[in-house]
Amino acid sequence: MFFIFGIGPKTIKTDSGQFHCPVCKTFATYIIQQQRQYFSLFFIRLIPLSKPKYGHVECQNCGTKMPMSVLQNTR
Ligand SMILES: [Zn+2]
Repeated sequence: MFFIFGIGPKTIKTDSGQFHCPVCKTFATYIIQQQRQYFSLFFIRLIPLSKPKYGHVECQNCGTKMPMSVLQNTR
């Protein structure tokens, strides 16, 4: 019997909102993304192998990925 297994990252969207983007200088929508390594069997992700990495903010207007700290600076 064959077992197909592997380890791969999965990106999850955890939050979204509006912020003033420091790159494109407009009020834009952002999403917060986090990545996590998963052990998968038959292409089904079963076991998370790591804690979610510290996420990043992606501006939906210009597509720039920024550290989470940009959200605190714009409030
Ligand atoms: Zn932007």
